[in-house]
Amino acid sequence: MKVRSSKTLTNASLRAVRDKMGQRGKDEPLHASDIYQCARKTVASRMYGEPDLSREDIEIMSPGYAVQEYFWGDEPESIEWEGALFSIDGWAEGAVLEMKTTGAYVKYLENPQPAWLDRTRSYCVIKGTLEAYILCFSFTSRRFVEWHIEYSQQEIDEEAKWLRKRIPELKDYIKRGELPPVTERRYAYECKYCSFKDHEDVNCRPLIKAAGMRITPPQKGK
Ligand code: SF4
Repeated sequence: MKVRSSKTLTNASLRAVRDKMGQRGKDEPLHASDIYQCARKTVASRMYGEPDLSREDIEIMSPGYAVQEYFWGDEPESIEWEGALFSIDGWAEGAVLEMKTTGAYVKYLENPQPAWLDRTRSYCVIKGTLEAYILCFSFTSRRFVEWHIEYSQQEIDEEAKWLRKRIPELKDYIKRGELPPVTERRYAYECKYCSFKDHEDVNCRPLIKAAGMRITPPQKGK
């Protein structure tokens, strides 16, 4: 028996994920992820194409998709709303279901992350409900943690208002071929995982520095 280290199927697996993810063309409708992530990233990906996901990105992301599919099956069909597409993970117990995975220990997950609450609120807007469940699987604890969310009507109305402003704004940027400023990013961690920070045409790194922002958010307690 001869055993040797190999990369043949590793490379094939990475290629399969890259092919599945595909590229979003300039004219493709905006998806919820385009709306909620950094506006500059959304516009840059339509103008220059999304750079290939790195091996590390794929290895971090894929187990999350796999867990979601294992428990809840394929995502339902996307819903079109105000000219954008929203893919809701599911509908359970008369409420929106949003499935998440994390590397954090369950004991550190006291509350859902603000980004999860924002995105889930948008699905409540689309489905016309105030209620949602966020179900999160921790790879580290190997346990679920779950939250039931009840938004107020005012929160839902404010989110709908924001979406009605944000969607046409993004479309206009894409149409004009103009990159929004780096200050349009929504969360500090976005730059850390963004493949555009060193893209020669998008050129975020020096702009982020000039704006007094950080690529990697400070750790808690630092
Ligand atoms: S590096 Fe940051 S500011 Fe630039 S596109 Fe990515 S997320 Fe947005």
